[in-house]
Amino acid sequence: MAEKINRLALIGIGLIGSSIARGARQWNLAKEIVVQSRRDETVATAKRLGLGDRYTTSAVEAADGADLVILSVPVGACEGIAKEIAPALKAGAIVSDVGSVKESVIRQMQPHLPARVQFVPAHPVAGTEHSGPEAGFADLFRDRWTILTPPLGTDPQAVERVRAFWAALGANVEIMEAEHHDMVLAITSHVPHLIAYNIVGTAAHLEEVTQSEVMKFAAGGFQDFTRIAASDPTMWRDVFLNNKQAVLEMLGRFTEDLTALQRAIRFGDGEALFDLFTHTRAIRRGIIEAGQETAAPDFGRPHKGEQG
Ligand code: NAP
Repeated sequence: MAEKINRLALIGIGLIGSSIARGARQWNLAKEIVVQSRRDETVATAKRLGLGDRYTTSAVEAADGADLVILSVPVGACEGIAKEIAPALKAGAIVSDVGSVKESVIRQMQPHLPARVQFVPAHPVAGTEHSGPEAGFADLFRDRWTILTPPLGTDPQAVERVRAFWAALGANVEIMEAEHHDMVLAITSHVPHLIAYNIVGTAAHLEEVTQSEVMKFAAGGFQDFTRIAASDPTMWRDVFLNNKQAVLEMLGRFTEDLTALQRAIRFGDGEALFDLFTHTRAIRRGIIEAGQETAAPDFGRPHKGEQG
């Protein structure tokens, strides 16, 4: 059972921030929830939805006196906010984030955070292609992974508090090094998104230049790509700019394997194709058995989509 937080400050209240707010409210994890977003419209929406107890456009005001401060903003905005809120953070406060990239967020935030606070970076590996406070839901993190990447020397008690918080939101929590996280997520999430953006872009271009009805007849696998490629442009731009090395490394391997497939097709090597497809089908079954996906049509996830 997570220890109740006195004051929870949510900086950024889009899909992820609002899902945390809803879960924290539903499972009574905080005495007070302070909601921040930079634009008045977003704050007004959060207020209408009743996501917090207090609302502000000021990150400093939100962080002031909070026990747990969670940044749920695009990765590229984390450094500026860390710098801004640093003087307002109270002694013993825990600062966390939900960014899809961890090494560069730590590199950018940590130097600004005062020694009197603990920094426990997190990444809930759950999400959808939708954005904004209306898109969130309390169950978003249920039975999905949340990865914590505490820098060396972080107080284990602070790590435990953040672990318990995410566990109370329904997540399975794992702790790993930031560098390892970035490599794993590059292949499981970042490169797949890049492939989706690329294939949809290629099809759209083809439709334009050939005046053919590529999109009209979009079916099966392609439709799934279009859903992933509808993910937030700001968030994903920041992911690629901030996980450059791991993404390039994984793209290199991917390209080599794609070239091998290209050769198999060119030389009619059906055995190579069949072997790979058999192997990947077994992987899919393994994922379903591990409970991370269902075998239902449309992947059984009308609301839950790709994780960031
Ligand atoms: P979102 O729905 O687009 O919400 C973004 C929030 O950040 C809004 O409150 C927005 O404020 C604020 N924001 C945007 N740009 C900002 C800036 N330059 N400075 C300050 N605040 C800014 O985004 P999200 O999907 O919740 O993603 C938030 C974080 O979660 C990202 O770091 C992402 O990597 C991570 N994440 C996302 C997913 C996913 O699937 N979406 C999954 C796991 C982790 P205004 O609306 O007021 O402009």
